[in-house]
Order: sequence, then C-alpha cells, then structure tokens
Amino acid sequence: MRVILKGASTGRNKGKGHAHMDEESGAQQEGRIAIIGAGIVGLMTALEIQRTGRQVIVIDPGEPGGRQAASYGNAAWIGPGGIMPISVPGLWRQVPGFLMDKSGPLVIRWASLPSLLPWLLRFVWAGRSWKKVEECAKLRFELCRSSTIDHQKVAAEAGVDHLVEQKGSLNIYRDRSEFLASGFAWDMRRRLGIKFIELDETELQKLEPNISGRYRLGVLIPDQAHITDLKAYCQAIANLIEKRGGEFIRAQATGLAISRGRVRAVKTGGGVIECSQVAITAGIGSRKLAAAAGDRVPLISERGYHVVIADGGHTIIQPILPADAQMCITPTRQGLRIAGQVELATVEATPDWRRAEVLQRWVSRVFRVPPETDEVIDQWMGHRPSTPDGLPCIGAAPSCDGLFYGFGHGHAGLTQAPATAKLLAALVAGQEPPFDISAMAVGRF
Ligand SMILES: Cc1cc2nc3c(=O)[nH]c(=O)nc-3n(C[C@H](O)[C@H](O)[C@H](O)COP(=O)(O)OP(=O)(O)OC[C@H]3O[C@@H](n4cnc5c(N)ncnc54)[C@H](O)[C@@H]3O)c2cc1C
Repeated sequence: MRVILKGASTGRNKGKGHAHMDEESGAQQEGRIAIIGAGIVGLMTALEIQRTGRQVIVIDPGEPGGRQAASYGNAAWIGPGGIMPISVPGLWRQVPGFLMDKSGPLVIRWASLPSLLPWLLRFVWAGRSWKKVEECAKLRFELCRSSTIDHQKVAAEAGVDHLVEQKGSLNIYRDRSEFLASGFAWDMRRRLGIKFIELDETELQKLEPNISGRYRLGVLIPDQAHITDLKAYCQAIANLIEKRGGEFIRAQATGLAISRGRVRAVKTGGGVIECSQVAITAGIGSRKLAAAAGDRVPLISERGYHVVIADGGHTIIQPILPADAQMCITPTRQGLRIAGQVELATVEATPDWRRAEVLQRWVSRVFRVPPETDEVIDQWMGHRPSTPDGLPCIGAAPSCDGLFYGFGHGHAGLTQAPATAKLLAALVAGQEPPFDISAMAVGRF
C-alpha cells in the first residue's frame, strides 16, 4: 500500500502515514467510510458508524470542534425542549423591523438580501400555518427526545461525563402576556410529554436569586442539560474515535469521485481519499459538497455570535433564555457564555462585532448583580447551517449510491447530533430508520 494523499496533513495522526488506495491496482478499500466534517454531527456519526464494525476516516481542515465549527461556539444547550422551528405564522410581519433594527435579535444585511430572498420566501412559507409548525415540531422531537441521555452516554464513554451538566434550562419572561406569546410552543411540549415547571416571581427568585426584577415568570425544563466545554467535549469524542481505530485527515474536501452511479472517493486539495461510502456532515460546507454530487440544497448560514465573560461561576446556576433578548446565557468552564443573534449575510461576509456587543449589553439588564468583571474572554462568530423548513437533511443521496447526508441542523445541531448519527449509522448499514424520515430527505426541496 502506498500513500497517494499528497499535501493534506494527516492532522491528529500526523506522521503515521496512512494508506488510502493501492496505487498500482487501484483497489478500493472496501468497508471504509469517509465522514466529511468534524463538527459535533460528524463526530457523533463517526462514532455510531464505528459501532457497526466499520472503519471510519474523518476529513476536516480544522481541529475537531475547533473555532471554524458552529459546534465550537454555540450556546451548548441540549435536551428535549428544542422542538420549535423558527418560522411560525405571522413572522413575516416582523421582517421589515428586522431590516431596520440594528440591535434586535435578528438582522439582515441589506447587501445580502437579493441572494437570500429565495431562502427567506421558503422560510416564511414553511411556517405558514400552525399545522405545519406542529408537523415540524413532532419530527424535531424525534431528533431531540433522548438528546440529554445520549450525550451523557457518549460523554461517559469518552471519559468526560463531567462536561455534561443536567441542571435544566430556564426560560424567563417579563410578564404573563410575554409567556402567552409563546403559548403554542409550551402547549406543544405538554402534548409531547416534555416535562416543564412554571415558576412565579417568588419561585423564580428562589431558584435563581440573581435574575433581575425585570423578569417575573420562569419555566424550567428539568431534562435539559448543557455542555460546559464544547471544544474539550468534541476533542474527547475524537480521541475515542481514534482509540477505536478511526482516522483523522486534515484536509478540505473539494468534491467527490463518482463513477457508474456510485461514490468512489473524496477529492481533497492534497489528494484523493478512496472509500466505499461517504457521509457529508460538514455543516455550512455541506451545500457545496452536495451540489458537487448533483444535489442542490437551499442551505444558508444563520450567522450567530457569542461573548464569554469572566464571572467566577456565581452568576447563575443553570442556562437561561430571556424571552425579550432571544439569546442564551450558559455557565461554562471558561466563563459566562452569552450566545445568540441571527445575522443573515453571506458566509464570506466579515463578522460585525457590534452583534456581540448587543449580546453583552443584555447582561446588566438580566442580572441583579452582573458579573463583577466584564472582562471579555472570547468573542466568536459562526455559521448555523440552516434549511428554510427547520429540519435537517438526513438520508441517502438521490444523486448516487454510497453517499449519505447529515447536515442543516440550524439552531439545534448539538441537540440533534446523537439522533442524526444513529439514523445515519442505520442507513449506512442498510437498515430501516426507526421512524419515517422522508420529510428530511434532501430531495424535498
Ligand atoms: C450562536 C449559536 C448558538 C447555538 N446554540 C445551540 C444550542 O444551544 N444547542 C444546539 O443544539 N445547537 C445550537 N446551535 C447550532 C449548532 O451549533 C449547529 O447546528 C451545529 O454545531 C452544527 O454542527 P455540524 O457538525 O453540522 O457543523 P459544524 O459544527 O459547523 O462543523 C462542520 C465541520 O465541517 C468542516 N467542513 C466544512 N466544509 C468542509 C469541507 N469541504 N471539507 C472538510 N471539512 C469541511 C468544518 O471545518 C467544520 O469543522 C447554535 C449555533 C450558534 C451559531
């Protein structure tokens, strides 16, 4: 066996020298599956596929869960609560406001509007009726119902169970009318059997004494959890994959080699990686790769930001979501992470750090005693890989055999990663998925 991969560094396995194809015979290494993307979806997928006895090779130019990935910088919430898509009836009425209000939770960059318009129209259409929203929420529930338990199991296997903290999550509201504005979501959660506890002002203060008097009502979802260090979590999963014989290649996938209707290899800037199957789990990078295979997907980046500030760990006990701010505040090992904002702009557009400042300004409104220091430890911008209908693309590619998709998780990819991984592992093994996933097929667009 000779290595034919030129230029692409073999990342975590640097120097070991990996054989990818017998150059002379051109023989394909049967059984090996390439996973493109080492964000949380790719990592979980690699791990699940390994369980079926297959050899996996994970391709990414960056570190697993590194800064380039949405999986590095998100709000770190997991659990059964994330059932709601963003597009709901009446949202379109707010779009003009989004275009004007520079400090709101959603902004659209004027320059990007023409290219985003087709996606936006589909997005609004997806939430045209509560019946449509309900159908979507039910499918999302299938992807998040066991998220906390699944993450806990994986964390334990990877030796980092301390990174998953199950303290619930807390939505906070200024008054009852604000709470009732999201009545559909709570009713839907009740109907799906998701446990939650309503708290009046006294109970809220007792649970989280540092929440300011601005908020008079809270709803606690006890089965929610959060990851206290996402990068360390992703790296621990990567270590586990490697320990079980998986390989990591540091390279950018540029396309696929497809012949006679079947995927044969992944093309990278440094060479060709032969494999018998491929899973594209490359977050926002998946659109180009799917297009290269012949599948066009309306996938855009809902750009999001985070700010991490030092807080000594005393500000809050559990993650909170103030309804008027539409952002998440999560206690992490590095500090208090304030994550949110949806900025619709192209992937290439430079970050607008004023979005991060908007997030940071909320701290003094949300807390009675804001963190003593407002030292900013980290600021970050990343790409939520979003389809217009609030569902990811999971399934076999219609364009060719041996190719599978697992991307487009938008606001909930960390939550939905374990279920996505199990579905992909089943599909790759030729098994029936445990529930009907046709609504997540890439061909639906
Ligand atoms: C501010 C913010 C807050 C969020 N909060 C939450 C939350 O609390 N809970 C939740 O569940 N979700 C949340 N999300 C969403 C979540 O972060 C994403 O849905 C999830 O991280 C997507 O994971 P992924 O693995 O698909 O993509 P990513 O994490 O982006 O990983 C994709 C990987 O693919 C690689 N890649 C791309 N193109 C190529 C290529 N051509 N070749 C090789 N590799 C490639 C990239 O380098 C990257 O490492 C949030 C997102 C943001 C931005």
